Amino acid sequence: MLAVTSQGPELISVEDVPKPGLEVNTDAIVRITTSALCGTDMHVYHHKIPNVPAGWIVGHEFCGVVEDIGDAVTGFKPGDRVVSSMYVACGRCPACVAGDHRRCKDFQMFGMGAAFGNLPGGQAEYVRVPLADMTLRAIPQDLSDESTIFTGDILATAFTALRQSGIVEGDTIAIVGAGPVGELLAMCAPIFGAGQVYVIDIVPERLESVKKFGATTIDPREQDPRKLIKEQTGGLMCDAVFEAAGNEPAMKTAFSLPRPNGAVVLVGMLVNEHFPLTAGDLWLRNTKVIPVLGAPYSHRDELLKLIAAGKIDAAQIITDRIPLSGAAEAYAAFDRKELQKAIFEVGS
Ligand SMILES: [Zn+2]
Ligand SMILES: [Zn+2]
Repeated sequence: MLAVTSQGPELISVEDVPKPGLEVNTDAIVRITTSALCGTDMHVYHHKIPNVPAGWIVGHEFCGVVEDIGDAVTGFKPGDRVVSSMYVACGRCPACVAGDHRRCKDFQMFGMGAAFGNLPGGQAEYVRVPLADMTLRAIPQDLSDESTIFTGDILATAFTALRQSGIVEGDTIAIVGAGPVGELLAMCAPIFGAGQVYVIDIVPERLESVKKFGATTIDPREQDPRKLIKEQTGGLMCDAVFEAAGNEPAMKTAFSLPRPNGAVVLVGMLVNEHFPLTAGDLWLRNTKVIPVLGAPYSHRDELLKLIAAGKIDAAQIITDRIPLSGAAEAYAAFDRKELQKAIFEVGS
């Protein structure tokens, strides 16, 4: 089968590898139909994730059709259309029952190498899905892959961040970074009652595309976000600010925008970045810092209902549709920020 593999820093190839088979009776084999390229994959691309060997199959956002199931799988049968969570969890242990699936003893993330549980990824024609009854969700009949694929990762991440921010009806928020997660935050913010929504980015196309969600856009090279928001809110500033870029300058901007007792929600993938302010700065302003890891298991059923009801149209963020064979170029173009959100149409 064809699979997208990491071969070293900035080296992606598409190669023919053995098709996976069932290993234990709770597994399913899924024939992938759609797989997405995620910002997190860029950390593998740049070898910021330890222990990713050459030839490792990448990718963790995917939809497909169940091809084969182990004897213990009861929720699915061959032919069912499914969307996967980006990681595996058992759903039964104390951590899972508490809603903290990332602490599950069975945690494994697709496509991220040994440090994340050694589970080959979903940018491939087939994937082995452990604990299939829990990891997979059926795609409702009249919904497409494109509208549902992000429930397993970035849509759930944006939704988790909005929920954990504690915003209430009429609150003013700012989103720093208008990449895919920033766009989904702007798209979902009205569901949580957000009033004024500011989006800050330096890429004009990204700012343009969030205007359709009613956001007020700010390019910090043209206007000082703090000054503008201060003027427009009569000095009240933001109730919550979402850092969705995953870099130090964006974090610095984010921490300049909350009101006293407000919140900064860290949604972007921060790996080696330093904290841009002192403990005293936080204490004086009583800023709540809320780091968010996406919680697909706690939100995907609600998200699928909102999608079916037409309340969320996440497919709008897709900018590029690429065959799997074009993956190496797609990674390089995404790294140059020439792609916003690309999906691989697998088998096309
Ligand atoms: Zn992802
Ligand atoms: Zn568990």
